[in-house]
Amino acid sequence: MSFKKILKLGDPRLYKVSVAVEPSELESLETDIEILHEALMKFRALYGAGRAVAAPQIGVLKRFIYLNINKPIVLINPVLSEFSEKKIIVWDDCLCFPNLLVRVERSKKVKLSFWDMNWKEKTWMLEGDLSELIQHEYDHLDGILATMRAIDDRSFKIKI
Ligand SMILES: [Zn+2]
Repeated sequence: MSFKKILKLGDPRLYKVSVAVEPSELESLETDIEILHEALMKFRALYGAGRAVAAPQIGVLKRFIYLNINKPIVLINPVLSEFSEKKIIVWDDCLCFPNLLVRVERSKKVKLSFWDMNWKEKTWMLEGDLSELIQHEYDHLDGILATMRAIDDRSFKIKI
């Protein structure tokens, strides 16, 4: 099962738009969720960071995100709206380019709607760290990487 691993910056699959998950596919997501979990834990052990990973990052072009902060949760077919006018500037990183930081601008607050693994719709109001994180992960579902959102041509930094 673990032939799927995190794709690296430049892999053409990372630039594709993913398709919505159907309710009938819920069970078949389990294996991919395990792979996402393993990948996230491995990244955490190596780099001391990593809170979420999106399905396209392992080449599964479906609209779901695996989030693990205090507990694991799967965000299925997420929708973002009500982006705040107030922005924050962050140095963003990504499992697809672990040694690179990219300076990007994100909305400070955003509204997130998604379906969970019981196919219940949920809505969260996000702010700060979590808002910025989910905007990053959501971008993966549309084939957008943080490198494509760099504020300018000096917004790149190699981590030591
Ligand atoms: Zn990423």
